[in-house]
Amino acid sequence: MSAWESAQQQLAEAVAQLGLDDGFHDLLRTPRREVTVAVPLRRDDGQVEVLHGYRVQHNLSRGPAKGGLRFHPDTDIDEVRALAMWMTWKCALIGIPYGGAKGGVAVDPKLLSRNELERVTRRYASEIMPVVGPEKDIPAPDVGTDEQTMAWFMDTYSIHSGYTVTGVVTGKPTALGGSLGRGGATSRGVMYSVFCALRDADLQPHDVSVAVQGFGKVGGLAAQFLHDAGCKVVAVSDVEGGVYNPDGLDPIALLRHVRGGAGTVVGYPGTDRITNDELIALDVDVLVPAALEGVIHDGNADEVRARFVVEGANGPTTPDADKVLEDRGVLVVPDILANSGGVAVSYFEWVQDLQAYFWSEDEVNVRLRKLMEGSYAEVSELAADRKVSMRTAAQMIGVGRVADAHRIRGLYP
Ligand code: NAD
Repeated sequence: MSAWESAQQQLAEAVAQLGLDDGFHDLLRTPRREVTVAVPLRRDDGQVEVLHGYRVQHNLSRGPAKGGLRFHPDTDIDEVRALAMWMTWKCALIGIPYGGAKGGVAVDPKLLSRNELERVTRRYASEIMPVVGPEKDIPAPDVGTDEQTMAWFMDTYSIHSGYTVTGVVTGKPTALGGSLGRGGATSRGVMYSVFCALRDADLQPHDVSVAVQGFGKVGGLAAQFLHDAGCKVVAVSDVEGGVYNPDGLDPIALLRHVRGGAGTVVGYPGTDRITNDELIALDVDVLVPAALEGVIHDGNADEVRARFVVEGANGPTTPDADKVLEDRGVLVVPDILANSGGVAVSYFEWVQDLQAYFWSEDEVNVRLRKLMEGSYAEVSELAADRKVSMRTAAQMIGVGRVADAHRIRGLYP
């Protein structure tokens, strides 16, 4: 099942629970605006290649569109649509005044030089410039992009505008109006979600073992924060495969191994090599998928042995797998809740940029924790009241708020 099919199926479930009519359903599932652009790239050897780029603004009823920018070879319009839709519900769920968007370029950033990456970013930014801006649509980092990508994007937008516009992207370096705490915000939010799930089950962080799939911006720091909080992180993985040690891993030492030339967690001394599929099936308490969509599906959901699946990635569990996990009593903390710390602090960054007044890291983290714990409580209460999964409850809150915004605004003309 594709990410777009998963997103549509989840929406249909929420719409049915909320009792919305077919017209509303149509309004909510149809992306508001989709831009497809050609991104011609001159390679360092002088050859020209044309890449394909996308920006989808799924819904704008609650504010400017917000969502990441992905550089990945498999990115296509359907994936970007799904990711944009999930952003709409996520922003509404946590109560920040944004619609949802996502962007992507179908390219493997690992195969480009730094100069080529800069040219791709700048050309893509200038191609989608008519639809982005601090009041229109605000990109941020996602898979394959980082704060340097955001700096190039912001610079390109600013040069075309004739003045510096820090608020056009979030996840920027702090030297350019980035927020303290943004770098670790998604992972910190994942950790708070784990804490909430453990607290409701009368468990402490030091009681549990954890496996994390994906050792990038989200998974790497989630592993570190959970380790620092006392959890035993026994396995991590990246696109090359995974490593496992039942006695626990040290995520900081692993990061040194990756950055020190290995480029992957694989081969880290004192660990067994495992595949990404084996990681999903490990006998751990908490599984944190933090890589790509659709990794827990109907073919492997019954192999998941974790008691808690806390979704750092967007869309890691398909609706079929959700049903299997629910029947087996596995608690899934859904993506739009568990990984919402990133867009929450992106919102804080945008607010700071617009005010040109910056907060301390403590202030950012305290606000983040409060927001995440509040959202978690709302979702788990609704799930208990309506006897639905945490995913359906989270979607119901997000979708319901967007439907309310449409209803109150009315339909133009
Ligand atoms: P990233 O590019 O920094 O890291 C991605 C990681 O996944 C890397 O370790 C990569 O090796 C690994 N990976 C890639 N393909 C894989 C595969 N087929 N199997 C296993 N591992 C694979 O990306 P990120 O920003 O950490 O994003 C990870 C997930 O979190 C995505 O689903 C993204 O949409 C979601 N997310 C990110 C943020 C954010 O702030 N960056 C916020 C919310 C959600």
